[in-house]
Amino acid sequence: MSQSTPYDQLLAASREISLLASCAAVLSWDEQTYMPREGAQHRSAQLGLLAGLVHEKATDPRLGNWLGEVEQGGGLGLPDAPMAVNVREWRRAFDRATKLPKRLVEELARATSLGQQVWVEARAAASYARFQPAFEKILALKREEAACLGAGPADYDALLNDYEPGATAADLAPLFETLRQGLVPLIEAIAAAPRRPDIGVLKRDYPTERQRVFGEMVASQFGFDFQRGRLDVTAHPFCTEVGPDDCRITTRYNLRDFSDAFFGILHETGHGLYEQGLDRTHRGTPMGEAVSLGVHESQSRLWENAVGRSRPFWRQAFPQAKRVFREALHDVSEDAFLFAVNEVKPSLIRVQADEVTYSLHIIIRFELERALLAGELAPADLPAAWAEKYQAYLKLTPGNDAEGCLQDIHWSAGLFGYFPTYTLGNVFAAQLFDRAQQDLVDLPQQIERGDFSGLLGWLREKIHRHGKRWRSTELVFQATGAQPSPQPFLAQLTRKFGELYGL
Ligand code: ZN
Repeated sequence: MSQSTPYDQLLAASREISLLASCAAVLSWDEQTYMPREGAQHRSAQLGLLAGLVHEKATDPRLGNWLGEVEQGGGLGLPDAPMAVNVREWRRAFDRATKLPKRLVEELARATSLGQQVWVEARAAASYARFQPAFEKILALKREEAACLGAGPADYDALLNDYEPGATAADLAPLFETLRQGLVPLIEAIAAAPRRPDIGVLKRDYPTERQRVFGEMVASQFGFDFQRGRLDVTAHPFCTEVGPDDCRITTRYNLRDFSDAFFGILHETGHGLYEQGLDRTHRGTPMGEAVSLGVHESQSRLWENAVGRSRPFWRQAFPQAKRVFREALHDVSEDAFLFAVNEVKPSLIRVQADEVTYSLHIIIRFELERALLAGELAPADLPAAWAEKYQAYLKLTPGNDAEGCLQDIHWSAGLFGYFPTYTLGNVFAAQLFDRAQQDLVDLPQQIERGDFSGLLGWLREKIHRHGKRWRSTELVFQATGAQPSPQPFLAQLTRKFGELYGL
């Protein structure tokens, strides 16, 4: 019998951990779609057991031994060869997992589970005071986590790296500042523009079953494979990969709102296309996994906005929409509809924000969570700091905490350093779409014909199949020939909204 190599051992362990995690993914998906309410307690016990098993396997000391042997042995090929990539990522994951004491992992799990429950109640009561004690506890634990993983309790990068490996606050801060300086004048110009869209046309009756049929049709046209995926209903839309041939996306329907479900479906379809485009031969290893949340979000934003809110797309989709939603759209023109789905209006709520104002919501959160982590902002002062920033950046003041600092679930779930990946997604998406347009010269005509195979093929080739081969910035560089920059995003917004609003 031949002796299996340390690399084989690591490969087997990686596949087993991935398999266990995918069991948890089915249970989470079910919890958010079909599970009866009373099933919650047993479900949390199931998920807790699986999380414990995953953590146990991920911190198994034998992994450290095998990694040491493989790293010393060499022969892994170039740094971006599959074996070398897998070893690099396994090392990263192992070091992160073993740097955190078990007590801290367990305390964080409890504090964030409780924190989310308290957050739901506090948000319903619009009372930050009810959330503050739980939040103080979570923040203290996250500072401890940052100290274990990085250079100290204020080490934002240590947490950011969970979602966007290689990213640093020092790189993000100037990128966000450039965005802010470009977006604020554009928002002001749009506010002063004489033309305004009539968004009333999106608030007519759109029978939800027809919304589903229409949404699934467009998702199929984009290339989402319904033999290897499903679309279901949930309160908070998401996409999750259950296996290499099983990707679940979700949305929510509202009779009197066309945009919510439809653009939600396009967004999650973008995530789903990425998952369905990963290299199956590498499944269960880092080479077969998405590189970062920023890149994941670039895929969803690209399909939702660069394609789904564009004129070429609606040139072919609008006549179809008119047939499906005859009553709602019989007296609406393509121009009026396109303008309506592209309304720009500063608002207090991030998830309702348009393409132009969205990044300001993220910049506010980035600045606040860094200050919280650094101890420069006390949790007690968060609502006031929040209001001050919204006034400064969006000229709006929340009427209460629910539409202020309690609106997002992230911090209650311990997700610090997560928000920037949304804006990175927009920035990457714009740069990728620019490059795709250069490489596929008749891309607008393809989209006008309802043919998305060229664009999907380009993304498969440049992004999806590479898994974690490179860090996100290197991946974008390899795909576009340029370092990631906010300029393509700003240029696209200025061009598109300048045309729509007649600036
Ligand atoms: Zn997303």
